[in-house]
Amino acid sequence: MSFGPTPKNNSRGGTPKSFGPSARNIRKRVIKAGWGNDDFENLDDLTLKEKYPNILNFYVEPPGCDIRLETMETLAMERLRFLRIIEKYSSLMKNEEWVQKVKDDINSNGLSDYINLQPRGLANREETCYRNRAKDYFSHFILRLAYSRTDDLRRWFISMEVDTFRLRCMMFPEVLEQLTVAYNLGFQKAEKDDVEKFKEDLVNTLNSTYRKSKKDNLTVESIKDKEFFKVRFTEALDLVRTRKVFLYQGQCFVPISDIQHLLTFQFKSLLTQNIALTAKILPNLDEDDRLIRMLSELDKRYTGADYTVDKNSKDTIKPEQIKPLKDNGAFPLCMRYMQTTLEKTHHLKYNSRLQYGLFLKGIGLSMDDAIRFFRGEFTKAHVDPEKFDKEYTYGIRYNYGKDGKKVNWAPWNCMRVITQSVGAGECNGCPYRHHDPDILRGHLVQSGLEGDALNQVVNLAKEGHFQKACSTQFKATHKGQELSTAITEHPNQYYQESVNGGPKVAETNKARANLKTERVNMY
Ligand code: SF4
Repeated sequence: MSFGPTPKNNSRGGTPKSFGPSARNIRKRVIKAGWGNDDFENLDDLTLKEKYPNILNFYVEPPGCDIRLETMETLAMERLRFLRIIEKYSSLMKNEEWVQKVKDDINSNGLSDYINLQPRGLANREETCYRNRAKDYFSHFILRLAYSRTDDLRRWFISMEVDTFRLRCMMFPEVLEQLTVAYNLGFQKAEKDDVEKFKEDLVNTLNSTYRKSKKDNLTVESIKDKEFFKVRFTEALDLVRTRKVFLYQGQCFVPISDIQHLLTFQFKSLLTQNIALTAKILPNLDEDDRLIRMLSELDKRYTGADYTVDKNSKDTIKPEQIKPLKDNGAFPLCMRYMQTTLEKTHHLKYNSRLQYGLFLKGIGLSMDDAIRFFRGEFTKAHVDPEKFDKEYTYGIRYNYGKDGKKVNWAPWNCMRVITQSVGAGECNGCPYRHHDPDILRGHLVQSGLEGDALNQVVNLAKEGHFQKACSTQFKATHKGQELSTAITEHPNQYYQESVNGGPKVAETNKARANLKTERVNMY
């Protein structure tokens, strides 16, 4: 891959990747920041402070440097874990409570580097903060590359990055005005005469019921000291929609305290344009198979707990327990639907056999029992036992690592299930993602959901919050018990927490801090 000059071969064996036309100028900064000598090539003496002066960024210029593939992968995985935490809370109101919840989760998952961006005068914090800003900058561009491939991925990435930007705006309000200057956004300050002319309208708007905080009720006298920006209404749609600004002839009068809404809008527009440009250069990434493979698999990487079956585990199930477990609500909707289809048609197509077979393996069904289970179902219809042994047992043995590549394949996580394509007549995939709302509603009713909870889950799925919809369904069908991770990360997690209850939060977080991420198996 090259955005700039072709990088030289690395003497330590790795091939550095060039990020931009001004490559080979950042390594010293990175070493100062403690990322390690082996990660970057070709230094100059610029400082991190000069390169990353802003806490908040619009990520306009790609970073110019050579970076080792391993470092690239590490940074991408860190940001992916970070954005998935942001996603967990994406359906909440964006208020102080939201900021606190996200911050707590980020800190407990060992990702505080992505929010510790402000030295705030603490000793020895400065260098760490500039290192963190550099990490943030690099990881954004790496993930942007990986997530520019399809419409769905672009939409997800933009939405999570916008929420990240919003979070930082709320965490660091003192730097917002400086950002408008740094990026020369040209927001026009309202003249004193305009403020005077509309002072009553402005006071009424700012004191209106649409603004929750009443503690600083304004008067006509005090409004004269306030600063406002005049902005076209199309650039402040959020504020117009929520009736928080005074609008006159297409111009909104935005108080300086609401500048974050304008910046967020700018951020989103720029990122939307830039990610489309990134998508255009993707076909040129034909230099290195490892890079292409890494980028194309990134979105499917799983960053949660490992549900590959443990040979020493005492958790085992027998074929005859499968249907009762499904009927008692221990299976998530995706697995419930496949089990129901199997009971009705006595057959599953190839992708469903993979997805469902690996799930059953993960909850403790042994290989011999899996063969017994599927043979029992398939031979109830058109498949005779000889045909089953000839055509279907190989796939089951393959899942358990006994045939083919002999790999202990992991059960598929939600990301892997949600992002797969589902053909006509197939029942694999995630019902929240792959089924029409009416059909989904039918499945949910069968799972015992009704009333407000039913509508809430269907709406979440319609809005694209598939894993949140799944965890909401879990809560509604488990007497208020919540999943330990707020959104469903893995079908086997759903099963385990349904059957055994959730792990203690402290244990989950400790396990995550030490977690080695796992490559999702594709075959
Ligand atoms: S969110 Fe995950 S567990 Fe829930 S139905 Fe979709 S794939 Fe299955």
